[in-house]
Amino acid sequence: MTLLRATDLGARHGLLNAVRGVSFDVAEGEILALIGANGAGKTTLLRTLAGAHPLSTGTIVYADEDLAGVAAHDRVRRGIALVPEGRKLFPEMTVEENLLVAGHRARPGRWNLDTILEAFPALRPLRGRLASRLSGGQQQATAIARALMTNPRLLLIDEVSLGLSPKAVEEVYANLAALHDDDATVVLVEQDLNRALSTAGRVICLLEGRIVLDAPTAGLTRDEVVTAYFGFN
Ligand code: ATP
Repeated sequence: MTLLRATDLGARHGLLNAVRGVSFDVAEGEILALIGANGAGKTTLLRTLAGAHPLSTGTIVYADEDLAGVAAHDRVRRGIALVPEGRKLFPEMTVEENLLVAGHRARPGRWNLDTILEAFPALRPLRGRLASRLSGGQQQATAIARALMTNPRLLLIDEVSLGLSPKAVEEVYANLAALHDDDATVVLVEQDLNRALSTAGRVICLLEGRIVLDAPTAGLTRDEVVTAYFGFN
């Protein structure tokens, strides 16, 4: 089933068209990786889906509803959660407070403080720690946990592994794998191509704001991906 259909999306930063004519579907339960060079428009695209950046053209239909005019916080209520670039935790709040704040806007579902701490045992001893005192990996785990507290149907994760140690990357992906089940759909931005291709069932590559590749990862060669990524002919 199609959970989200994006048609002809455009988004601007001032005069710059950061996203141009972008159309794609997201199927319920899939993991989709968004890749592309720096400045390709990945963050901007993800933010338009979450309602954090306005569209200049196009439509987003999610669960059979046109999201035009649906504010970011109302998209959260409908099950769209964003783990933003830079995590954006509340630095002067504890891990537990960061999680509980997100839970306020929660849909009913299986995630609450108890189930989150079972799924992320590494966070349990950190409950009382200020977010500003966490390592990068701990921050990313907290940011993903915070998004899950809203019981999302569609989890959007920007720059999953950027700035994390190899060990922290392993932990975050182990969490994602453990958390992914048939009712959770994930769109992630990942700079590490190998990681993107091994995690996702499908990959979309952006180049200067346009989609240059949209394909299942199975059977895709590294050459095809690299060609799309750099825009070689
Ligand atoms: P990165 O991997 O560097 O985050 P990205 O693929 O996520 O890149 P975006 O961050 O969406 O790309 O940026 C797309 C384009 O929009 C780039 O040319 C970028 O310079 C520009 N841009 C992004 N944010 C702003 C902003 N706040 N003001 C002006 N231009 C911006």
